[in-house]
Amino acid sequence: MIKLNNITATYTTVRGKVDAVDDVNITIPDGQIVGVAGESGCGKSTLLKVIYGDLIFPLALSKGVVEYEIKTGKGNGKKITSKNIQNHWFKHISYIPQSSMSSLNPVVRIRKQFLDFMDHEQRKAYPLESIREYVKSLDLPPEALDAYPHQLSGGMRQRIMVAMGTFFKPDVILADEPTTALDVVVQKGILQLLMEIQEQMQNTIIFVSHDMGVHYQISHKMLIMYAAKVVEFGDSENVFNGSLHPYTKMLIDSLPTIGNNQMREGIAGRPPSLWGELHGCRFAPRCPLSTDLCRQKEPELIEYRPGHFAACHYVEKTQQ
Ligand code: ADP
Ligand code: MG
Repeated sequence: MIKLNNITATYTTVRGKVDAVDDVNITIPDGQIVGVAGESGCGKSTLLKVIYGDLIFPLALSKGVVEYEIKTGKGNGKKITSKNIQNHWFKHISYIPQSSMSSLNPVVRIRKQFLDFMDHEQRKAYPLESIREYVKSLDLPPEALDAYPHQLSGGMRQRIMVAMGTFFKPDVILADEPTTALDVVVQKGILQLLMEIQEQMQNTIIFVSHDMGVHYQISHKMLIMYAAKVVEFGDSENVFNGSLHPYTKMLIDSLPTIGNNQMREGIAGRPPSLWGELHGCRFAPRCPLSTDLCRQKEPELIEYRPGHFAACHYVEKTQQ
């Protein structure tokens, strides 16, 4: 279980400060694929960095704390927060980035990079042969370990990233648009692989994609973000079939439908800049249901059905 207690995450820049995740208060349960969606710039990657505890300048937590309950191994029972989660990287929480090219060192063979993220004890416990076996079990040729990154295809490199991120069977795997740079067929293979791993290990995967079609296929839970806020959170079935927030509805409606491969019209307008003063509901300027109240008062994230949350004044008026 990961508890985000009133989290605000802020970038400090020469232009000033910007809250890329703003007062987020949610609990992420164990053992499910949690999909994070929302338009570009809404804070999805920042949210993952916060959960990973990858808080390096210019990013910092300006409010709140993340609490982790780790089930397995050495982490069991210890108090783990944003301050010490780094001690649990790879073993209990791992991160699969969007681009394997920028995370792999181009001049170092894959096998060495695999070993480089292990400490002394782990290298003794997990000899190269065990890595070869694992890589083979993910349908990668074991020789891939002897290659330099550029000798592998984009899809193979991303499978290597998945192998690195899952080797120690972490309780939590964070994947930030892990297939965006790949073509559709290769994408499917990687997503399939992640789903199989999750089914086997029963761990939590927090999976960022702006593609609602992909979420529909793989995510058990959905977390919808808009302009640094969580606007809806719940089981995928409820979020897709009984979405509460007008923004979620619009995201779903912009999906292509069967028989019509054309992307439907996107949502008109753009999210507000996070740099300015923000009043009321951030979606109000684009929302067909907005009223004066929406423009003035920020809606709270409320649980309308067990485990199904939304932040919307219209929903508040009509659902209670
Ligand atoms: P997403 O992953 O949803 O596209 P991000 O989390 O990357 O969104 O970014 C959220 C907001 O934070 C954006 O408005 C972006 O401009 C800002 N941001 C992201 N990275 C930085 C950075 N290194 N410095 C300053 N601002 C940043
Ligand atoms: Mg991103």
